[in-house]
Amino acid sequence: MPNKTIVILGGGFGGLAVANQLRRALPPEHRIVVVERQSTFYMCAFNMRLMVGEMKDRREGERELAGLARKGIEWVRGEVLEIDPAARKVRASSGTLEGDYLIIALGAEQDESGIPGFAESALNLYDSNGALMVYRALQEFDGGRAVVLICRTPFSCPAAPYEAAFLMDTAFQGKGKRQAAEISIYTPEPRPMPAAGPETGNAVTGMLKERDIKYYPQHKVQRVASGARKIVFEASEASFDLLIGIPPHAAPKVVREAGLTDETGWIPVAPDTLETRYAGVFALGDVTSIRQPNPTGLFLPKAWVFANEQSRVVAKNIAAQIRGEDKSSRFDGKGSCYLETGDGMAAYASGDFYAYPEPRVYLEPPSPRYHKERRELEQEQLEALV
Ligand SMILES: Cc1cc2nc3c(=O)[nH]c(=O)nc-3n(C[C@H](O)[C@H](O)[C@H](O)COP(=O)(O)OP(=O)(O)OC[C@H]3O[C@@H](n4cnc5c(N)ncnc54)[C@H](O)[C@@H]3O)c2cc1C
Repeated sequence: MPNKTIVILGGGFGGLAVANQLRRALPPEHRIVVVERQSTFYMCAFNMRLMVGEMKDRREGERELAGLARKGIEWVRGEVLEIDPAARKVRASSGTLEGDYLIIALGAEQDESGIPGFAESALNLYDSNGALMVYRALQEFDGGRAVVLICRTPFSCPAAPYEAAFLMDTAFQGKGKRQAAEISIYTPEPRPMPAAGPETGNAVTGMLKERDIKYYPQHKVQRVASGARKIVFEASEASFDLLIGIPPHAAPKVVREAGLTDETGWIPVAPDTLETRYAGVFALGDVTSIRQPNPTGLFLPKAWVFANEQSRVVAKNIAAQIRGEDKSSRFDGKGSCYLETGDGMAAYASGDFYAYPEPRVYLEPPSPRYHKERRELEQEQLEALV
């Protein structure tokens, strides 16, 4: 078997997961190259810990990508500038690369400028600096309207904005300020975490109600009037004293310019093998759009639990092809996630997103056990990736 080169674009969660899987599956003569512009990997889920002061500095959740060399994974630091998927060729700021296989794991870009007034008014929960600013704002908060604003769908981790609202509730209780605060969530979604089906959505809505968190679905923001502290929707307005925002997401420009995306704005892939329409080119994680193979028309959520499972499938299939074996592994749409609910508790959603005729996902009620499991799992993942 001649030596092969596998080029992985993006050293975030999915890129590192697939690089590790491939390294374990293939002998060292095959090159595994990760192209990533950052010098560290940071686990985004730790923003929830930053926002409540459980983690004080993002560096606690970071690992140096230089550590990949110890594992026999090459890391090329650079910006991916151009992708030629038909030739499996990539131009990066650090040089040109060509692979026998190309795996695109470039994640989602956040576009704060997509909503006028967002950058001036909102604290971006999806940015680690923004999450630290949320922490400081919660310390100073003395009462008023605290709003979580989801600007557009899809966005990474459909649970995170709801977690933010629950965590705020706990933080205000702790300060004796809950009576003085009104907590609201505004979202264009029809219900919380819609890809998980109506039962999960209804369960989360019930939990919000129990905590007196106001929920405004089907609200699509047009702009934020920062001076007047108002969010302007298509048909209404809402005021705020503290605004925590999730900006619009999009596939990275380099991916869109390569003609890899479809009308969804993301890369369409085979739901079971993550193959793109180009031979030897795969995409996984947040950069993909995967329509659930059932009549709901819903898409698979953008979450690392799926990127992780997808990386297993892609690595197994590439390794089998290189070894000349006829085996093929399939991603089955099963997955789970924790939903932090404050007070040291988390709920646990798990199920089958590819189920027919609609996703079958169950939400276990909050308990300290799930909170502990989540902490352990995130730490385990961080240590395993780099
Ligand atoms: C606040 C928050 C909480 C979350 N909590 C959870 C959770 O509890 N559970 C869960 O399952 N998921 C969670 N997620 C979602 C999870 O982080 C993502 O689904 C996951 O990171 C997706 O992996 P990815 O590899 O597709 O993208 P990413 O991890 O975003 O990696 C993409 C990488 O590509 C790099 N890149 C992009 N463009 C270029 C370029 N042109 N050149 C070079 N490099 C480039 C980026 O720097 C980045 O490192 C959370 C996300 C956020 C924001």
